[in-house]
Amino acid sequence: RAKARGGNGYSFASEDLDRDFARRMNLEVGLRKALEEDQLLLYYQPILELREGRLVGLEALLRWSEAPGRFVPPDEFIPLAEEIGLIQPLGAWVFRNALKQLRSWEDKGFRDFTLCVNVSPLQIRDPHFPESLEEALRETGANPKRLVLEITEQCLLGERAPLRELFLRLHRLGIRVYIDDFGTGYSSLSYLKDFALDGLKVDRSFLQGVPENQRNRSLVEAMLAMARGLGLESVVEGVEEEGQMDLLRRLGYPQVQGFLFSRPLPAESLESLLQKGRIPLPGRA
Ligand code: C2E
Ligand code: MG
Ligand code: MG
Ligand code: MG
Repeated sequence: RAKARGGNGYSFASEDLDRDFARRMNLEVGLRKALEEDQLLLYYQPILELREGRLVGLEALLRWSEAPGRFVPPDEFIPLAEEIGLIQPLGAWVFRNALKQLRSWEDKGFRDFTLCVNVSPLQIRDPHFPESLEEALRETGANPKRLVLEITEQCLLGERAPLRELFLRLHRLGIRVYIDDFGTGYSSLSYLKDFALDGLKVDRSFLQGVPENQRNRSLVEAMLAMARGLGLESVVEGVEEEGQMDLLRRLGYPQVQGFLFSRPLPAESLESLLQKGRIPLPGRA
């Protein structure tokens, strides 16, 4: 690689390292500043049922604008926030703001969809997590029955007893827990028998090449059948094409989320959708 390029390969490699290091340092300094100075914002992506395109949920997705018009992808800065110990304050910021927004929608009469919020493993294992969430609920006065926490299978690795207790506490408040990116984690299916969960979000990678791709199609079908058998809600993520939507109808009308219906949008841009309560489905508007 860099070494093969010329006599002094060492300096090439170390330049690369320097550049990565500088980029990381910049990101880290920037992220701390973003958090302090409120340069973060939430976008929301609609989740629909597949019969009439009724809005059933919104997923809050964190956005960080590093410079005007330049967004750092969350897949880049969330792992960084976890590494540098910023995920707890970042996660608390997300809850406060998502719940404040939910409350303000409630006040406007928009009351029949759920709000999904992503939670990372370090955040959910933090012993202060439930208090901090309850405080955000108290402060905002948002309805906990409308809240869904999205956790990944990685969250379920490790000791199970404390998590079972946490889920019990959340359920007592009316908060639901869904597994995000279902099918891509390192966990085993045994967690489905050990934890009281409320729903699965089938990862979008399983929609690749569907409906033509037989393997992925079988996997999606099996995951949806399993969710149904277990009495879990199912959401399929990353629906981009009409053919995928048609297949999902044949597989029992799971809830759907994807660019075919809507990209994530800032709260202000959602008002007219919230008024109508539905998105016209492609092919049957
Ligand atoms: P996720 O929770 O699985 O969120 C869904 C991601 O898929 C979002 O990416 C969304 O924009 C994208 N997506 C939705 N529909 C489609 C589609 O049809 N095609 C394609 N190609 N992509 C689609 P986003 O917003 O970039 O977020 C990436 C990940 O970052 C999230 O994946 C989640 O794991 C993490 N994340 C975002 N916000 C938060 C947060 O507030 N807290 C935590 N802990 N993680 C977050
Ligand atoms: Mg999610
Ligand atoms: Mg996901
Ligand atoms: Mg994801």
